[in-house]
Amino acid sequence: ATFGNLTDRLADTFKNLRGKGKLSPADIDGTVREIRRALLDADVALDVVKEFTGKVRERALSDEVSKALNPAQQVVQIVNEELVGILGGEQRRLRFAKTAPTVIMLAGLQGAGKTTLAGKLAKWLAGEGHTPLLVAADLQRPNAVTQLQVVGEQAGAQVFAPEPGNGVGNPVKVAKDSIRFAKDKQYDVVIVDTAGRLGVDAELMKQAGDIRKAVDPDEVLFVIDAMIGQDAVATAKAFQDGVDFTGVVLTKLDGDSRGGAALSVASVTGRPIIFASTGERLEDFEPFHPERMASRILDLGDILTLIEQAQKNFDEEEAKKVAEKFATDSFTLEDFLAQMQQLKKMGSLKGMLGMLPGARGMKEQLENFDESELTRTEAIIQSMTRSERLQPKLLNGSRRLRIARGSGTTVTEVNALVNRFEQAAKMMKTVAKGGMPQIPGMGPI
Ligand code: GDP
Repeated sequence: ATFGNLTDRLADTFKNLRGKGKLSPADIDGTVREIRRALLDADVALDVVKEFTGKVRERALSDEVSKALNPAQQVVQIVNEELVGILGGEQRRLRFAKTAPTVIMLAGLQGAGKTTLAGKLAKWLAGEGHTPLLVAADLQRPNAVTQLQVVGEQAGAQVFAPEPGNGVGNPVKVAKDSIRFAKDKQYDVVIVDTAGRLGVDAELMKQAGDIRKAVDPDEVLFVIDAMIGQDAVATAKAFQDGVDFTGVVLTKLDGDSRGGAALSVASVTGRPIIFASTGERLEDFEPFHPERMASRILDLGDILTLIEQAQKNFDEEEAKKVAEKFATDSFTLEDFLAQMQQLKKMGSLKGMLGMLPGARGMKEQLENFDESELTRTEAIIQSMTRSERLQPKLLNGSRRLRIARGSGTTVTEVNALVNRFEQAAKMMKTVAKGGMPQIPGMGPI
């Protein structure tokens, strides 16, 4: 995951504090130094790191920690709060115009994920009851219009594109015309996709500025690839000076990079992160919540997002039944199979599992997780007798061998599945009972 390494480093840092009653100034300095190194290695901008560690240090040396019942946990709490702070603090929702249409303009470098985002936004908005119109104002790249049309079709949204001979090559005119079209046809949100370049250049900025003037957007979203590393700050500043923007969208948060852009951009530009993009598919997208991102980085789990997505995709009755089963320990392998099939519907299984508390402990399994494994899992469970599915405790060695043969897998695979099932059941039981996610080895926060 994007922050895997950072998460590991921070967890190790905190582990060193475990079991210490009082923290000496040397303990705190050591911790702050480790945090600073971990953030720099994750490509977070130096200024941001300095400010962050300065605040953490000051608070960690204050009464807040020395008077706390558990100083080590208090330090984690402070890091968490300050992380939320650099990610923008409160959630900032998309703003809609008082009178329709709301105009959203997308800007960013080529390859940042603007066109993909346009489709994601359209799909998400449609799900919220809006009628979005996608506008192809990227006339630079030869196939940009086609790409937007493909994305629009996937999202079930109309695309406004220049008609041959009318406005071709003039993105400002296309953008302007699209607003009139939206008003006529009563689309209530207009999403304007603009051209990007591989690098920041004056012509790109001028064009984006002209489109901005022509459509007077309610939101200008600066789309930035979280994998861009140290260039994030310069790119963001160039776009802020050139077009200015009202909000940020982070893309490719599913990448295995160091993710420093995510942690730098909001605080460097003073603009809030509004959405996060976490994969190539249109569903891999969510409104950005600073506090959830912070707890994801700290591996506190992301129960809220998990529950929210579950509600959208699950039949609510079904979800209640499952929660009940978790809580009462009557969750079986049959339920497990049904659950995995549901999860697959919800978006990337890996992404979902990554949000579970303690997922860090399962990192290796997650990274090696292959969705085709689902098919094998299915075969294994189907080779079990009903009583085995209902009571996994029955699964002794000879039964496991029989199941492996029956499903064309190995005993090791059968064992792995049973282990995974037991882990999941245990973890979900804690959550279902309202237990707090835990930092591995540190106890509840
Ligand atoms: P644009 O040039 O800014 O319009 O960028 P595109 O929308 O064409 O995206 C560039 C590439 O990044 C495409 O291959 C997309 O599939 C991919 N992409 C976009 N968003 C994400 C994301 O959140 N995660 C991943 N892994 N890939 C993404």
